[in-house]
Amino acid sequence: MTASFDAIVIGAGSGGLTAAIGLARLGRKVGLVERGNVGGDCTNVGCIPSKALIHLSAHHAGSAGTEDLLERVRRLRDHLRQEETTLVSETPNLTLLPGHARFSGRRELMVTAPDGSRTRLSARDIVIATGSSPVRFPVPGAREERLLTNESLFELEEAPEHLAVVGGGAIGVEMAFAWRRLGSRVTLVEGARRILPALEPRVGELIAARLAEAGISLVTGAFARSYHEESRSLELERDGASARVPEVDKILLAVGRRPNIDLDLDATGVEATPAGIIIDSAGRTTEPHIYAVGDVTTSSASTHGANALARRTIQRIAFPWLPLGPAPVVPAAVFSDPEVAYVGPPLAELRKRYPADLIVTLNVGLNGTDRGYVMGLDDRSGFVTIHALRLSGRILSATVASPGAGEMIPLLTLALERRMRLYGVSRLVFPYPVLAEAIKKAADTFLYDTFQNLKTELTTYLRLRWRRPMAVAALDPEGSAPVRVPG
Ligand SMILES: Cc1cc2nc3c(=O)[nH]c(=O)nc-3n(C[C@H](O)[C@H](O)[C@H](O)COP(=O)(O)OP(=O)(O)OC[C@H]3O[C@@H](n4cnc5c(N)ncnc54)[C@H](O)[C@@H]3O)c2cc1C
Repeated sequence: MTASFDAIVIGAGSGGLTAAIGLARLGRKVGLVERGNVGGDCTNVGCIPSKALIHLSAHHAGSAGTEDLLERVRRLRDHLRQEETTLVSETPNLTLLPGHARFSGRRELMVTAPDGSRTRLSARDIVIATGSSPVRFPVPGAREERLLTNESLFELEEAPEHLAVVGGGAIGVEMAFAWRRLGSRVTLVEGARRILPALEPRVGELIAARLAEAGISLVTGAFARSYHEESRSLELERDGASARVPEVDKILLAVGRRPNIDLDLDATGVEATPAGIIIDSAGRTTEPHIYAVGDVTTSSASTHGANALARRTIQRIAFPWLPLGPAPVVPAAVFSDPEVAYVGPPLAELRKRYPADLIVTLNVGLNGTDRGYVMGLDDRSGFVTIHALRLSGRILSATVASPGAGEMIPLLTLALERRMRLYGVSRLVFPYPVLAEAIKKAADTFLYDTFQNLKTELTTYLRLRWRRPMAVAALDPEGSAPVRVPG
C-alpha cells in the first residue's frame, strides 16, 4: 500500500504531537507514525508518571497504601494518554499510522505495522520526532527482573525494599526522593564527584544534604560493576577499590539517554552523531525538507524544549517567508526536594565565554526573605543565584532552588529572553511576602554594589569588555545577544 501526505511526522510524543497537530490545524494533510503509545515518553514513562509519583508520595504517602498510590500514578497516566489519543483522532487532516517507520528514500518511508503489514509513505516535508531511550549497561550477575529503567519503573506494584538508583542526574535524583517517601531504602550512585553535575555546584551540595536528611545513601565517584545474587549486593568501583551496597532488590538505571535514530537515515542526507540529529534553530536537518525536533536532536532534552522547537518547525514549513526570530531561551527544572530550576549556563560554562572578572555572581538564600523567615526556612532551604555582566547588569544565567522553583523560573527566563538587566528587575514590584523576593534582593544587591563602587566597576568593565576572548566573539558576535542553551 502507498499513501502520500503534505507532511509526515514520525513519533507521537511531545515534539511530534505539537508538530503534527499544528500542521494539521493549518490545513496540511499530515500522517503521524507511532510505534508505541500516543504521548511518547513524557506521557507514558517520563514526566507525567514521575511527577504524579513525586506529588502523590509527598502528599499522600502516610495516608494511602503504596500499591494504591502506584495504581493512581498509572490511572493518571492512562487518562492523559487516552485524552491525547482522542485529540489525535479528532483533529481534522491528521491520520495516525501505527507502526515503525524507516526511510526508504529521501522523501519516502516504509512503515511496518504491528501486524507486520507494510505501507509506503511519501511527503513533501518530514519531521523526525522519535525521541530517546534510556542508556542500558550490563550489570553482570543481575537477573533481568532486578534491572529497571524509566520504561519499567512505573509498572512496579509495590515499593522495593532497597532501590539502588544508578545515575545522579535529574531522573535519578527525582526518583530517589520519591521512592524514599514511599518507604524504600534508597542508595543513589553517581559516577561524578557530585550529583546533578551539569548544574551549579551549590545545587549538588544542597541536594546532597537534603538527600542525607531524607535518609538516602549517596555514593559519588562510584560506578556499578556487578551484582551478587546470593548476597543481593551491588558491587561498586570507587577510586580503583571495590565497595558493596548490600541487600539491593532493584537497580534503576538512570545514567542518560540515547537518541532513537534507527531510521535508516543513510537513505537520506540527514547527518547524525551519537548524541543525535544535527539541526538548525528551526529544526531543519542537513536534508532541507527533513526536520527533527525533541530528544532525537542534539539540542533538546525536555518536553518544553521539544514543544518550542516543534513550533518553530511548524512555522518554517507552513510560513517559510515569515522571519523566525532568535531561538528561544529554554529553562529546565529538576523536581527534587527542594525543586531546582535554571536558565542559561552554569558559571563554569560562562567563564569559557567571558573573562571571569566580567561576571558578577549574586547569591541570596531563601531565609533572607521575609516569607522564608515566617516559613522557618534556614540556609539549607534554598537560594537564588544570578550571574550577570558587571556594570551592564545583563543577566547571563540564573538558578533557583526553592519550593516551587519551576514556577519562579519563567520570570528569569523572560528576563533573559528580553535581555533585561538587573536594574530593570530591581524596579519590578513583587507581592509581599513571597520567596521570589530573593530574585529582587539579588538585583538590589547588584545595584547598590555597583553604585557604591562605580569607578572600579566602570574601569573593570571597559577594560574587559573589549578584551573578550576570540571564542566569545564567535559565539556572540554583537556582544549583546542573550546566552541561549538547549533545554
Ligand atoms: C523519567 C523521566 C522524567 C522526565 N521528566 C521530565 C519533566 O519533568 N519535564 C520535562 O520537560 N521533560 C521530562 N522528561 C524528558 C521528556 O520526557 C522528553 O524530553 C520528551 O518526552 C521528548 O519528547 P520527544 O517528542 O522528543 O520524544 P518522545 O516523547 O519520546 O516521543 C518519541 C515517540 O517516537 C516514537 N518512535 C520512536 N521511533 C519510532 C519509529 N521509528 N517509528 C515510529 N515511532 C517511533 C516513540 O514510540 C515515542 O512515542 C523526562 C524523561 C524521563 C525519562
